[in-house]
Amino acid sequence: MAQLKVLNSYSRKKEVFEPITPGHVGIYVCGPTVSGESHLGHARPYITFDVIYRYFIHLGYKVRYVRNITDAGHFEEEGRDPEDKISKKAILEKLEPMELVQKYTNLFHWAMHQFNCIDPSIEPTATGHIVEQIEMIKKILESGYAYEVNGSVYFDVKKYAEKYEYGKLSGRIIDDLLETTRDLEGQDEKRNKADFALWKKAPPEHIMRWASPWSEGFPGWHIECSAMSTKYLGSRFDIHGGGMDLLFPHHESEIAQSTICNHEAPANYWLHNNMITINGKKMGKSYNNVITLTQMFSGNHPMLEKAYSPMTVRFFILQTHYRSTLDFSNEALLAAEKGLRRLMEALETLQKIQQSNGVDFTGKNIELNKKVESLLGELDDFMNDDFNTAKVLANLFDLVPIINSIKDKHISLHEFSKPTFSLLSEKFKTYVEDVLGLRSEQLGNSGMLNGTIQLLIDIRKEAKSKKDYATSDKIRHQLQQYGILLKDEKDGSVSWTTA
Ligand code: ZN
Repeated sequence: MAQLKVLNSYSRKKEVFEPITPGHVGIYVCGPTVSGESHLGHARPYITFDVIYRYFIHLGYKVRYVRNITDAGHFEEEGRDPEDKISKKAILEKLEPMELVQKYTNLFHWAMHQFNCIDPSIEPTATGHIVEQIEMIKKILESGYAYEVNGSVYFDVKKYAEKYEYGKLSGRIIDDLLETTRDLEGQDEKRNKADFALWKKAPPEHIMRWASPWSEGFPGWHIECSAMSTKYLGSRFDIHGGGMDLLFPHHESEIAQSTICNHEAPANYWLHNNMITINGKKMGKSYNNVITLTQMFSGNHPMLEKAYSPMTVRFFILQTHYRSTLDFSNEALLAAEKGLRRLMEALETLQKIQQSNGVDFTGKNIELNKKVESLLGELDDFMNDDFNTAKVLANLFDLVPIINSIKDKHISLHEFSKPTFSLLSEKFKTYVEDVLGLRSEQLGNSGMLNGTIQLLIDIRKEAKSKKDYATSDKIRHQLQQYGILLKDEKDGSVSWTTA
């Protein structure tokens, strides 16, 4: 069997994947921060790692896939002090913080199911692992690689860098990180700018807080992933994944914490997906180009020409290798929509042909058989070459005209050999559905469904006109549960899309 090679961000080399325990793979992927709705940028890591997860299953591995939920409301933005976004927003919206966390967690799960992402084996939450995080911080303090100031605990990066490499994963230079300049206000408790919080004392207005040996407060963002990956995968596991935006400081800090606490770096292979840009620009609030997933599926965003289905977005993401940048534009999404339709129609055609019995396979068209076998054979090679879904899709598309020619009777089934045709039917389906995780979305074509939803839209309109907002909200919400999104148009009409 061909070897699977992965590009390890740590060595920056393509390495042969060797599992720690034969037949098993442990994967940890940094999950969402549920202080807000997931956007298009979040779709990429979870779809990428879903395909990686699926491919390991396809290869026959027993996979433990751990993807956390960051719900403790502590995360750092580059260049800014840690701040608790979850608690701040909760006050603004006058919600219980856990209510907000639950709402966005549910929405995230809903989006993942729309994308046909397989649920992780374990989905631990940061708030559910405060004890483990405190234990880990204690160990780091005991080793002398952390210090306490006013109830907060910081990791001592300078001391760590004297013995270990800090910055190797992200390619940062330690001297640049260790700038000694302190903040002008003198508020900075850290010995060095590069030091990061393991525990933060909670200011009085902070709602989410836990007791600890140092203060009532909350854990730092990095320690959460170290504690949960250690608990569920062991101190050393196979793969740690995430977006390239997490290389520094998040993953760099995870390595430092685990190295001190567990006496070894956490993962053998670090895999990172590249970012999504929008019309060539980085996605960000300042560009006003953040498109949430519900907006994507409903088309309700000024930058969107129309709604794009979850499978279209999935297909669009898989058309590019995960380590390359990917630029969103309406043109690209429209092309993806078309491409997906062609692919799914070919799959359907193939299944129909397969069902027709009594074919006398002769295998007389040697060239055709060879071509099909070679295109199918390469699928595994491409996946084994650092999960190259872009090339897999290109080969599947080279098979589409052949499948269509069988349908149009330009090619006769007799021309195939029986093994080649069986291979084509099986492998095409396996790759489209099981490995790439694509499924057909034909819900919207049914006239019965159209009529039913139109009826609900009319009832909702009536309810609204009577100011019965409980009923109108209920209809919208329940439909959303079934993956149907209503969109209020400017002219007062209501349209709908399947999410
Ligand atoms: Zn993480």
